[in-house]
Amino acid sequence: MKTYRALVIEDSATHRKMIEGMLAKSEDGKFEVVAMDRLDTALEQFTKERFDVVLLDLMLPDSEGIKTFERMRAHAGRTPIVVLSGVGDVQLAAKAVEEGAQAFLVKGETEPRQLIRAIRYAVQRAHAEHGEWESPMFHLAQQQFLKAAHLMGLDDNIRERLLFPQRSLVVTLPFRRDEYSDVETVFGYRVQHVLTMGPTKGGIRYHEDVNLGETSALAMWMTWKCALMRLPFGGAKGGIAIDPTALSRAELQRLTRRYTSEIITMIGPDKDIPAPDLGTDEQVMAWIMDTYSQQVGYTVPEVVTGKPVALGGSLGRREATGRGLVYLIAEAAAHLGMNLKECTAVVQGFGNVGSNAAKFLEELGVRVIGVSDVNTGIYNESGLSITSLLDHVSKHRTLLGYKGGQEITNKELLELPCDILVPAALQNQITGENAPNIKCRMLAEGANGPTTLEADEILNEKGVFILPDILGNAGGVTVSYFEWVQDTQNYNWTLEEVNNRLHKVMIDAFRRTTLRAQRDKLDMRTAALIEGVQRVAEAKLARGLFP
Ligand code: NAD
Repeated sequence: MKTYRALVIEDSATHRKMIEGMLAKSEDGKFEVVAMDRLDTALEQFTKERFDVVLLDLMLPDSEGIKTFERMRAHAGRTPIVVLSGVGDVQLAAKAVEEGAQAFLVKGETEPRQLIRAIRYAVQRAHAEHGEWESPMFHLAQQQFLKAAHLMGLDDNIRERLLFPQRSLVVTLPFRRDEYSDVETVFGYRVQHVLTMGPTKGGIRYHEDVNLGETSALAMWMTWKCALMRLPFGGAKGGIAIDPTALSRAELQRLTRRYTSEIITMIGPDKDIPAPDLGTDEQVMAWIMDTYSQQVGYTVPEVVTGKPVALGGSLGRREATGRGLVYLIAEAAAHLGMNLKECTAVVQGFGNVGSNAAKFLEELGVRVIGVSDVNTGIYNESGLSITSLLDHVSKHRTLLGYKGGQEITNKELLELPCDILVPAALQNQITGENAPNIKCRMLAEGANGPTTLEADEILNEKGVFILPDILGNAGGVTVSYFEWVQDTQNYNWTLEEVNNRLHKVMIDAFRRTTLRAQRDKLDMRTAALIEGVQRVAEAKLARGLFP
């Protein structure tokens, strides 16, 4: 659940209390409120702390009318301002909106739900207006690419061409909540980074932080990943800025179907093929496939991958990312002379990727001593039972309350001494701040973008062996490719066939990457990136420029 920091500037103690009370009960996001009764003290506070939103009464003891708004706006920069207006001041509030306030609310007439929605929308709109591309993740993806481009001496024209995605679609879409009169409007995205290699391919993410920059970063990584694995796809990504855990199944279905119809002109089995990512699963893919099929009038299983097997999904797709990562860990351990039966592992994130990685590591005899999810970490030095953790999560939907180990924070988890650390949750988890305290020998990235550039340098200096994300989590897209091939040929493979082919593709990419790293004295991340970028550059040059 997203946390909003709100600065409330309101001189009436009764209204301040009412607003704080409404925000405290919110189920749509958590609110941390700082309340002030004068503009001068509020402006001072604003320079000391970061806020996501300002709720502003225009009639204060030290400032009145539109001047109040103008003074606040001069300090607020890009932070959205929602004006709190008295019943008789609506004209004034409307003037503030004309001058750039995101919304206004009439005090005494505002329901808690309206207040919370107004804040959520104000934050989203301000972001959309000011900088959809402004995202630390997109900067990371671009920095990594530019570093690789420089080291490989990439042609200038191609470098510019690849720095931004080729096609981006931003949509706003409504969907009905279970409370029939409630309609939510949310932002959705689909980005195709490179169309040169064949259809584009990439997951769909439901998370409150999704924006154009993040989606573009993920699409760019998909391009390099597909090229590194030698799959005939360019990179794409999509998503909706929403917390899916706050939705009922029926709401999730309505949202997914509407999103699909909004992006339907972009997707298709020969154009762009979505797959699951953070916050989406087989069921979401089934709804996308059904919505698409209803529109074209016949069943098109190959429009998405990561579907249920009964709809043409591939055996082995669900666990492919975790399985592929563990194939690589085994290969890397052999390369480094590590005996896996004597190794310990820590896994951050216990969703699709993390739980499967933990399960396959346990099968290889690795002692998994720590796991975590968004709510908690669990640590047991003598080793956790993954079967019993999975059992707990299937009953409770979280690791919270698991008795077979000691509770720790995600921060502590990442810094545990271990041989293999697997980040399999979110981006930006290993940063310049915690990298000096990371104590693993091997970092096996299941998540996309878990390590910042600064952290990367620290870990490389410490001699940590890194399986970078575009290689580490490529098992997912590889079996997605197998699924697409099976669907287009109407011919299903056995699980053994899927896993054997996955193993072959993963190990081949690992060997090419280590070879390049050794030959050109590069770190593994840069070597993997160059492997991918070079293939795309070759394809672009071979196709030439139209017209
Ligand atoms: P998921 O939704 O199934 O699981 C995510 C897990 O991370 C959950 O256990 C969640 O509780 C946990 N989490 C969320 N926020 C956290 C936080 N702040 N701290 C700690 N844990 C947190 O998602 P997934 O499909 O397993 O994806 C995880 C990562 O792997 C993402 O970065 C995704 O892009 C990447 N990835 C997934 C696939 C795939 O096939 N699913 C393929 C390639 C890459």
